[in-house]
Amino acid sequence: MNITIDKNEKHPIYMQIYRQIKCAIYAGDLPAGTLLLPERKLAVKLSVNRSTVLNAYNRLKEEGLIDSKVGQGTIVAAVNIQSDSSEPSWNQLFNAKLEEFGNDMLGKMFTHLGNNDIISFALGMADPNWIPDLPISKLDGVLKNNKSILSQTPVAGDIDFRESICKLLAKKNMHCSLEEIMVLSGSQQGIDIASRIMLQPGDIVFAEAPTYFLALQSFKSAGAKIIEVPVDHNGIKTEQIERLLKRYHPKCIYTNPDYQNPSSCSMSLERRKKLVDLAGRFDFIILEDAAYTGLGFEEEEIPSMYQLDKKGHVVYLGTFSKTICSGIRMGYMAAHKNIIAMASMARQNIDIHPNILSQWLIHEFMQSGSYDTHVQNLRLHYKSKMKVMLNQLIRYAPEGMEFSKPMGGYYIWCKLPEGIRASDLLVECIKDGVVFMPGKPFFQYEDGDKYIRINFTVPSVEQIENGIPIICTNIKKLMKTKIHSQNINPSSYMPVF
Ligand code: PMP
Repeated sequence: MNITIDKNEKHPIYMQIYRQIKCAIYAGDLPAGTLLLPERKLAVKLSVNRSTVLNAYNRLKEEGLIDSKVGQGTIVAAVNIQSDSSEPSWNQLFNAKLEEFGNDMLGKMFTHLGNNDIISFALGMADPNWIPDLPISKLDGVLKNNKSILSQTPVAGDIDFRESICKLLAKKNMHCSLEEIMVLSGSQQGIDIASRIMLQPGDIVFAEAPTYFLALQSFKSAGAKIIEVPVDHNGIKTEQIERLLKRYHPKCIYTNPDYQNPSSCSMSLERRKKLVDLAGRFDFIILEDAAYTGLGFEEEEIPSMYQLDKKGHVVYLGTFSKTICSGIRMGYMAAHKNIIAMASMARQNIDIHPNILSQWLIHEFMQSGSYDTHVQNLRLHYKSKMKVMLNQLIRYAPEGMEFSKPMGGYYIWCKLPEGIRASDLLVECIKDGVVFMPGKPFFQYEDGDKYIRINFTVPSVEQIENGIPIICTNIKKLMKTKIHSQNINPSSYMPVF
């Protein structure tokens, strides 16, 4: 039997040997009684250590596929080819790089959804009690007369719906044509499609630190190398980007400029202008993730980089997940027509076209003017919930804890007192029925475990009132059990930046 091994492959060599022999046995190429090469000889033949072959043989023995007898050597056992009950060899079957970009944080966050015994500050969803009434009965009527609207729409999305999106953007001084818009099944899909069409293994992406962790996962799955650029209360530090550009040549800079997830900061107009200018000079794409844009509490909106850019360096991603609900799975990409053409091609491999029902419902909802009214009300609603959370933090947070005062969006970002770890805190809070997002996944390299992200849109006011003191009490308890610096900055309750 010819065994081939690939030393550059990520799967261990013993697994490669094990799997090839196993397949040959099940294929009938190695019938019962076949004598296998002794470990030493096979090791020499494959130029590997004897222990590597030994490990492979041991695993085959454990599964009853081979047997060794003194004086007889190692022979293939009599196996019933039909009845192998062992599990698939998962390690071998999955893409070896999967674990590098995979992180089931989102799955873990959702396990508490719908459990009334848990107060969850961990999610990043619209308030489930504020999902607007979409024109479902109207849709029902339309479908009764004409089901053909359920036929396929263009890959880039329904034309009427794209027109509605163009109008929505025009209200924010972003002017684009139909061929510059692609409807997405949520903006996460846009991040992933942008990664697919731009990035090759080894390419560089600059990302904010902290940032939205599922974006990092998309870039990593495309094989990109991530360089973190810190944010402060004015967003990503463009001075630092300018310095880094002398050394690195990123294909793309990912930013979430309005009420950023997780820190809630917004990029200042000066920095937006600077970044657009740098993109023109150094020729990179700005992936502008506008997930929370439009959800500001006070100020006028700062113009988007898509609006400021005159040359086509910005890919703008919008979503209806944060204003309507995540389950509607609708978002859009606005970009230069060449990018949209490429993105439409890449999209076909994942999902042939966007969901027609969701497009129809949101289009109607926007046409009637109800969408704008809903978003106005939502902003006030979220502002009042944020205030409750902020007041509870001001009241209960221990000395040394810092937190942001969001001007919009979904989250308060907190820096824990010196020496307190978010992962320890989560363990304690879960015992008391409270969960939040620890800061670690939001960073690629920096130590994120000193931060937590707490969401104010999903929990009820009562849950916010009860849950924040529980988090703060547990921080205080942990502080008592830790020997930490006595020089805690007395200017507690400061914004996190
Ligand atoms: N970008 C950011 C910054 C987000 O926080 C999220 C969701 N939490 C998304 C994109 C993805 O949202 P969706 O795919 O539901 O539009």
